[in-house]
Order: sequence, then C-alpha cells, then structure tokens
Amino acid sequence: MPKCQWCKEVGEKEVMYCDEKPTGQFNKNGSPKMFRKYFHSTCHDLQLKDKEYKLVEADKLTDLYNYILSLHNIIALDGRMMEKIQDLRNGSVKINNKKVTKYKEGVPYEVMLQTYIHLASTIDGILHSMHFNEKWNEFSYIFGTVTRSVNDVMKMNKHQDKQIHKAQSVPSAEVEIQVLVKEKKTKDNLDISEFL
Ligand SMILES: [Zn+2]
Repeated sequence: MPKCQWCKEVGEKEVMYCDEKPTGQFNKNGSPKMFRKYFHSTCHDLQLKDKEYKLVEADKLTDLYNYILSLHNIIALDGRMMEKIQDLRNGSVKINNKKVTKYKEGVPYEVMLQTYIHLASTIDGILHSMHFNEKWNEFSYIFGTVTRSVNDVMKMNKHQDKQIHKAQSVPSAEVEIQVLVKEKKTKDNLDISEFL
C-alpha cells in the first residue's frame, strides 16, 4: 500500500489520487519510467490548496522584493535581509540568538509593502538626510521604521473595511424601509375597506 505524500499515512492504492510524471528514463521494454506520488483524495485537495496559497504568497513576496530593490537601489536582497522579512511574515523574532514566536499571526507581505508605500515620504527623508556605511544598515534602519508602523497600517485597513461594510449595508436598509412603507399602505387600504 502506498504512502500518502501529504499525511504520510498509507492508503488503498485503488482509491487514492495518483500524480504521475515521467522520470526521463526508460524501462527495458522502451516504456517511459514514471514517478508516482499518491494522495488520499481529501489530502490531495489540501495539497492543491497549499500549492495555490504558496503561489499567491510568492507573488506577494515578489512585489515587496522588487519595491525594496528599487528603493535601496540594489540588485538583490541578501540572506540577512530576507531573514528579517521572513521573521516579520512568520511573527517570529530573535532574542539572544533564539527564534521565538512573538505575534500570534505574522504580517502579510502585502501589508509590509503597503507600509513601505504609506511611509514613502518619511523613508525618502531618511535616505536623503542620513548616511549609512552599508546597504545592510540602510535596509535595516528602514525596515525597522516600517516594522514599527505596520500595526498602524493594519488598523487603518480594519477601519476601511468597516467603512466599506457600512456603505454596503445602506442599500439593504433602504429596501427594508420601502418594504415597511408598502406593508403599511396595504394595511391602510384594508382599514379603509373595513369602513365601506
Ligand atoms: Zn493522506
């Protein structure tokens, strides 16, 4: 019985999903050798969702990455820089060289990017007035500024969501009023008919 590639438990081959890929090698009879991965069908759904999530995450990270590149006029972010970004994403911080989870949920990449954009003029001011020995120091200083403002941007987003929610609920309230008015009229009509 094959092992499920997602949950690592064994399952019945006949009812499992099979992901087949040619290995590029051939059997003695000339048929292509296949590389097969088995999944429980529910596990396969989870795996697909996970794949999709990772693609979306990768896209968002790319946007942030490119913004930071042009901001600091560099061609790549090094390992230390990426580690800082990942730590903020995962909600972990280094204390005495040990990684600990500080926040329940990390900061999404798009919120980091939004914060960079929100602080654009502040960051511009820093870059023009301060001198940094290395790009790492410059990145680090700016990233610290961004990290401190991330909560404000998240609060702003929540407030905006509420405003949008409020705006959307207006039409439905109007519909309710109209319905009430209509019902009242019908009642009035009935009332009059009672006198007739
Ligand atoms: Zn499974």
